[in-house]
Amino acid sequence: MSSFVVEVDDANGRQGVLDIGGNHVMTPAYVASDDVCHEMVGFSGDSRCHNTCIGEYDLWMQRSDVERIRLHPDEKEAMEEAACEKINRMQSPAKMLHFNFFTDVAGLNKETFVDLLRLQYRAGVGVIEIPHVFSDTQTYEQSVLAALEWQQNTWSEVPLMGIARTPEDLLMLEHYLPQLGGIGIDCRRFDKPLLYQVKKMLKKQDVWVHAFSVPLQYREVQNKGTLGMLINWFGVDTVNTIALSNTVRDYFTGIISRMDGPKEVEFAKRIHYFAPCDYSTFSFGKLEERYGEGQRLSRFCDCPVCRDLTIGGAVKKLPELYLMNQVHRAFAYYQESEEYQRALINNETGIFLDGRPFAAEIIRRSSGPLPAADRVAGPAAPYEAR
Ligand SMILES: [Zn+2]
Repeated sequence: MSSFVVEVDDANGRQGVLDIGGNHVMTPAYVASDDVCHEMVGFSGDSRCHNTCIGEYDLWMQRSDVERIRLHPDEKEAMEEAACEKINRMQSPAKMLHFNFFTDVAGLNKETFVDLLRLQYRAGVGVIEIPHVFSDTQTYEQSVLAALEWQQNTWSEVPLMGIARTPEDLLMLEHYLPQLGGIGIDCRRFDKPLLYQVKKMLKKQDVWVHAFSVPLQYREVQNKGTLGMLINWFGVDTVNTIALSNTVRDYFTGIISRMDGPKEVEFAKRIHYFAPCDYSTFSFGKLEERYGEGQRLSRFCDCPVCRDLTIGGAVKKLPELYLMNQVHRAFAYYQESEEYQRALINNETGIFLDGRPFAAEIIRRSSGPLPAADRVAGPAAPYEAR
């Protein structure tokens, strides 16, 4: 039931074509969250971004939610309707629903587990994920078997996606690869051995690898840079960045609403900005120190959000800045994914990687010297923004 074909397997990544629900998606590709997808149309004035992409709705669930839908059928129905509505609203031709469990969810009973599979089917997603709560590999294997049984009993033709949180999960899922439509890598608790396992086990295979909740900054460069779309180096085909739960978002909205003007600006200056020109993720405060408040963000990114915005203007825009920054990042990741596809096809990934010194540095620190023979040692000071 494979729906993915590798077209270029390069030392620095891979390019392929994913068939999801009859939609052909060229990878590497960015998968935007539903609310960001929605805002992108407003900013760009066209739906260009929706023609080729997959949209993802992240449904956060804590233990009390799981209990509520288990005990109260009417609440379960309301939750399902709300999720279906969110997914219907997405204009992307291919859709995914991801259950992002809080760590207090220790398990799901069989009935609830099947409800979550059925919900995805009802919502018309392109791939049905096999929900993974914080359980060990043996317990998750039981979920995989239950999902395969459900699929058989319901005659569902929508492919299933197994999810790995650890290398052990991935090794277990390898046995079921012929029956799965893809593998999801949960990057919320960033696990580098898991990425190595992907590279070792899946990169050469025609198996779609999707990364959920990819980190925005990386410790290897003191949180001043990101791998961004270059997580594809490990063999990851589609990438979704972390989406905040409503609980966390409401918490921050509450804090911001109680701030006065200067405090708001201070808060905004601590927000990190992804610069696609080098993959740095300096804070707005740091950018202001280096370039001055009058510097246009178009120096770093040519997306519709950054085109007419200065650093000083951005930090005065709370509370909208948070969403604007997410929309900018989505535009930038889209563009990067397209450029990386071209680099893979044209055998120019070495040049591409050298032009993104922060990503190159993260990879180098993860794996030692980079593989291409013509690779230079990298910039002298990767922590300095250009
Ligand atoms: Zn931008």
